[in-house]
Amino acid sequence: MRILIVEDNEGLATGIVRLMNSEAHVTDWVPDAETLQTGLNPAGYDLFIIDLGLPGIGGIELIRWLRAQGVEAPVLIVTAQDAVKCRVRGLDAGADDYLIKPFEVEELEARVRALLRRRGTPITSSIEFGPLSLDLGARQFSLSGAPLGLAPKEHAILEALIRRAGLTVSKEALLDAAYGFEEEVSPAAVEVVVHRLRRKLEGSKAVIATLRGFGYLLRIQAP
Ligand code: CA
Repeated sequence: MRILIVEDNEGLATGIVRLMNSEAHVTDWVPDAETLQTGLNPAGYDLFIIDLGLPGIGGIELIRWLRAQGVEAPVLIVTAQDAVKCRVRGLDAGADDYLIKPFEVEELEARVRALLRRRGTPITSSIEFGPLSLDLGARQFSLSGAPLGLAPKEHAILEALIRRAGLTVSKEALLDAAYGFEEEVSPAAVEVVVHRLRRKLEGSKAVIATLRGFGYLLRIQAP
């Protein structure tokens, strides 16, 4: 899926782009409405993530413009303004859903999945890797068929690893996955969660390997 993010906060936008790309989407980012209106073809996107508080032309106006252009792709509003009035205006302008900043990574992923599903796009419902299985709908991991009890941070990190199973995932990417973009957390926090995950995976063939200086890798232990 091709996703366009219109967001003037570069840090947040970069985080969302990284996250969406890790979900196998192709994601572009523009910092304001004008860049989209003058330089891009909106028909080329399957989903828009739009910040309401944009410099220049605001998010609401941009959504109206998109709909006036005949663009039918779903629009997810991201806003720091919690006011009901503001969200209602966004939905009235043609948005499909909204998220209030700061938000959890899992929530953004879930909203995007739901919007794309509503559009009739077939979405993977589970990810399998060796004895591990992740049911994306129920957000539940199983190990050898038995439900695996995980704390939210453990779930987020194991999900980031299974989505890129067999590939190295940097500590920074895991930090983003578990703690979002707004929290200031030391990378050492990731080590603690990985340590707990390893204990829960103990005795199975699924192993979280450390690549010093690079990050972590979920792999299947050779017999
Ligand atoms: Ca903004």
